[in-house]
Amino acid sequence: MTNSSNKDAYDEVFANLEKHNKWFENSIPLIASENIPSPAVREAIISDFGNRYAEGWPGERVYAGCTYIDEVEIQCMDLAKKLFKSEFADVRPISGVVANLVIYSAFSNPGDVMIAPSIPAGGHISHGKKEHSGTAGLVHGLEIEFFAFDSEEMNIDVEKTKAKVEELKKQGRLPKIAMFGGSVFLFPHPVKELADFLKGHNIHINYDAAHVAGLIAGGMFQDPLREGVDTITMSTHKTLFGPQGGLVLAFEKDAEAIKKATFPGLTSSHHIHHMAAKAVAFAEALEFGKEYAAQTIKNAKVLASTLNDLGLKILGEKKGFTQSHQAVVNVLDYGDGGKIEADLEKANIIVNRQLIPGDIKAKRHYMHPGGIRLGTSEVTRLGMKESEMKQIASFIKNVIVDKKDAKDIAKQVAEFRKNYQKTQYCFDNKLGAYEYVKLR
Ligand SMILES: *Cc1c(COP(=O)(O)O)cnc(C)c1O
Repeated sequence: MTNSSNKDAYDEVFANLEKHNKWFENSIPLIASENIPSPAVREAIISDFGNRYAEGWPGERVYAGCTYIDEVEIQCMDLAKKLFKSEFADVRPISGVVANLVIYSAFSNPGDVMIAPSIPAGGHISHGKKEHSGTAGLVHGLEIEFFAFDSEEMNIDVEKTKAKVEELKKQGRLPKIAMFGGSVFLFPHPVKELADFLKGHNIHINYDAAHVAGLIAGGMFQDPLREGVDTITMSTHKTLFGPQGGLVLAFEKDAEAIKKATFPGLTSSHHIHHMAAKAVAFAEALEFGKEYAAQTIKNAKVLASTLNDLGLKILGEKKGFTQSHQAVVNVLDYGDGGKIEADLEKANIIVNRQLIPGDIKAKRHYMHPGGIRLGTSEVTRLGMKESEMKQIASFIKNVIVDKKDAKDIAKQVAEFRKNYQKTQYCFDNKLGAYEYVKLR
């Protein structure tokens, strides 16, 4: 390899980064686990904090040079506690998966049982079994049992779950942890209905709010800390519009166990630039989060009901399709989720294929599942409202049902996107949402 080919490779990286931004500027981003952060969050991410270490707790660091880092981290914890009305916040976990590992490590031992939603019932791979390379089983050695799930209601079945826990107890396999929350998450989970029962069996209750943290922060979904959970874990970048990262919330009683599990247990560097960016996002969520969450949910409801009116099958019909930022479409009449995802991508509509209830029984697996999942977090952040959701539903129908020419739809999508290039629900938006920043 010559020096010039090194430079070519280097240039190629930047060319791809710029092309990606341009693509997203002209697309409809509907991945339910993604969002667009504000320019302020992006500014914090490129600060020098990203080049430093601050192991430990503010005021008790292992290194010098942390004066301003400590100030920001204390602000960050205060803002997190204010936003979620929690007694304790650990802002150091670097992702939602790491936040879950903090809970597993602090409140269980390898070999213990955890009860969680299965993946077709909305669970996340970080709650999963060892045989599926799920984090809980593979990394912490937990045995996983699944909540009983009602796919008509698209929710956890309370009575059958109670019976299952009693049965596990008889077998000497009483769960140590109950894990609520998930990645397909249309309706609030029955935390209130199960909390006393689970606590009566000394089961630690965690709520994984990775997807719905922004809706909870805005007061528009459910309020797990008041409904009986012990702890909440989350990602900070899904409906909560911060940098990629994690967060653990708890009551004072569990603070020490969580602090130790986070450091030295599961982090060395805690990605301090992202910590600062979390503080920025928490301040934005305190100021704008309620309005944002309300609009995000309204948009999901309109997107789901319009698609239903256009003849597509939407899960959760019995309950009005959704109370979150998501809608899930059963696409089996038109192909499978993998094919539909690819068709939509050609039209610059970005979604993900999704396992839905019934898929595993029918031997449909991850590459070719029965559904696609749509999320309204990012399009809402771009300022879109109900009428735009109707337009998006019609683009989706044009691709899935009418099989219209993808290039043609992509052109219409780009035209439609022209008016939505700035991030809303934030203090400052001088920079365009997908504007490429060149520092070289
Ligand atoms: C996305 C997600 C996670 C993982 O979060 P990362 O921040 O990507 O590590 C954990 N739990 C649930 C329910 C999720 O949807």
